[in-house]
Amino acid sequence: MQVTIQELKPRSTVVELDGTTASQVNAIRRTLLADVPKLAIEDVEFHLGPIRDEATGKDYDSSTSMFDEAIALRLGLLPIPTDLGEFRRKADCTCGGAGCPHCQVMYSIDRKGPCTVYARDVVPLGDASLATLEPNVPIVRLGARQALLAYATAVVGTAREHAKWQVAQGVGMFPRMHVKIQKKADCSEACLKRAAATCPVNILEVAGGKLSVTDEVKCIDCGACEKACEHGSIQIAADEEDFFLRFETDGSVTTREALRFALKDLKRRFEELREAIQGIG
Ligand SMILES: [Zn+2]
Repeated sequence: MQVTIQELKPRSTVVELDGTTASQVNAIRRTLLADVPKLAIEDVEFHLGPIRDEATGKDYDSSTSMFDEAIALRLGLLPIPTDLGEFRRKADCTCGGAGCPHCQVMYSIDRKGPCTVYARDVVPLGDASLATLEPNVPIVRLGARQALLAYATAVVGTAREHAKWQVAQGVGMFPRMHVKIQKKADCSEACLKRAAATCPVNILEVAGGKLSVTDEVKCIDCGACEKACEHGSIQIAADEEDFFLRFETDGSVTTREALRFALKDLKRRFEELREAIQGIG
């Protein structure tokens, strides 16, 4: 298999995999979707009852316009930067699941109305680099005498348990397309030009009466050029061995790290299977 990185940004990537099969690329796609772990807020402890502002002596009400459950759900969806080398699941941690700096992160929220509580108000206790990556997400609006005082705990999980732990988004695979051009006898230059003009990604050009493809990789298989030439001079075919894998992440884990983890996880699972088969004898 030959791998070519077409695009590599921290939150989005396109990788070309040549000399493989659809099922192999699909296994990577599904692992990216379901098995890459990350931190997400799992427990939220709300202060119930009056909240006193020590500076002014004013009392605030802890009940807000939204149910606590809805606020907790919103907090759970905030992307938290996750170093996969540092954090692990509670069940796999050396602390035995009691909770330690390697398996959980604590946050506090302390706001008094009237105001809007944003994601940036969810403050990590300790390491400030663990603040959410989307500080401007609104959580809840507080009225004049309302306050929100809560402690939240983020733990490592995967999308198999809940979508809030889903690192990769928009994970898609598609075959590399081949544009075959063979000018039929009854086809004219004008017809080829008309067909080239229909291409939405502008990869066809006509020069000296000949139609050519400038950048085949960009073909999106829309079929517009194929339809435009009724003589059948242009044919688009999908490759059965070359694929593109495209995905984004919410930023909690970079695309590079997510792909690396997915490949390592697949390898581990197949090794476990191999050992189990050997055990059968
Ligand atoms: Zn631990």
